[in-house]
Amino acid sequence: MAYAYDDQNIFARILRGEIPNSTVMETDHTLAFNDIAPQAPVHVLVIPKGAYVTLDHFAAQASEAEIVDFHRVVARICADLEVAPGMGGAGYRVISNAGGDGVQEVPHYHLHILGGRPLGRMLA
Ligand code: IMP
Repeated sequence: MAYAYDDQNIFARILRGEIPNSTVMETDHTLAFNDIAPQAPVHVLVIPKGAYVTLDHFAAQASEAEIVDFHRVVARICADLEVAPGMGGAGYRVISNAGGDGVQEVPHYHLHILGGRPLGRMLA
């Protein structure tokens, strides 16, 4: 089985500059932008620039440089937007939906960073 990447997905189009976005941070390997329908005061999407569908695809096939860069961007955003508990923030939640059961709307790997309000319990 191989991962099938649809290069017409909306995040691929954002990466090609075909659709505008509200960029929060950009590096050689990673782009972070505000979610168009925010569910919390902080709702940032972090995506690799490479063509990966899900977290498991990214983790299995991305280079170490891409994987490290991606997570460093997450850390910098959490610090910059003052949600990182280790940096004095009140906390945040990271979500990655995958596939049909995970109700993934956009088939380009992304993490949601949510924060800026109490987020409640997600798992019982
Ligand atoms: P998913 O269910 O994890 O795939 O979530 C996709 C997210 O992308 C949703 O939270 C959408 O609000 C968000 N989204 C869809 N289109 C855009 C866009 O053009 N800019 C920013 N966020 C978007």
